[in-house]
Amino acid sequence: MRAVLLGPPGAGKGTQAVRLSERWSIPAISTGDIFRANVKGATELGRRAQEFMNAGALVPDEITNAMVRDRLAQDDTGEGFLLDGYPRNPDQAIELDSMLADMGIELDAAIEITADMDEVTARLLKRAEIEGRADDTEPVIRKRLEVYATSTAPLTAFYEGRGVLVQVDGLGAVDEVTDRLVAAVENR
Ligand code: ADP
Repeated sequence: MRAVLLGPPGAGKGTQAVRLSERWSIPAISTGDIFRANVKGATELGRRAQEFMNAGALVPDEITNAMVRDRLAQDDTGEGFLLDGYPRNPDQAIELDSMLADMGIELDAAIEITADMDEVTARLLKRAEIEGRADDTEPVIRKRLEVYATSTAPLTAFYEGRGVLVQVDGLGAVDEVTDRLVAAVENR
């Protein structure tokens, strides 16, 4: 299974990515997690990414694309992978196509978790209280949702055009959403 996971911030991508990766025995690769680990470890990559993340903006494509290309080249992706948080704009989607073409493989599914904007805003504000992520403040959440609507939402049509789009409603209990995702992808 080679798949990307799409959906707005707060839709539950990270939570579901872990569960789906267990189900299909493939690594879940979260660009947000990789960036955060680099910020924490004070690496050069983290230093370059941090200001964009804290503003709710996308980290520049040349940084993100190179990071994903390196990650996909690691040995554990042989049986597949689930990309969480990448691609996030059409240029990244085109770059991913070229990475996969270079590897001689194709994407099996673009799995979109849908959720309305009021629901995801409420979830992110709640998470802010619990986890204290630097980009979970109200103005930054607003910016992230704006970036999603402008840059990332067009990917739905892009992957629909490719015939690989699977859309699943992200509302409901975590287990319910996982079951829905598994059923939708496995019966596609
Ligand atoms: P969320 O989906 O909840 O906004 P993520 O953990 O996926 O959170 O991403 C956090 C931040 O990391 C983003 O706001 C952005 O700054 C950066 N980031 C993650 N993935 C990408 C990407 N594909 N391209 C550019 N920036 C990214």
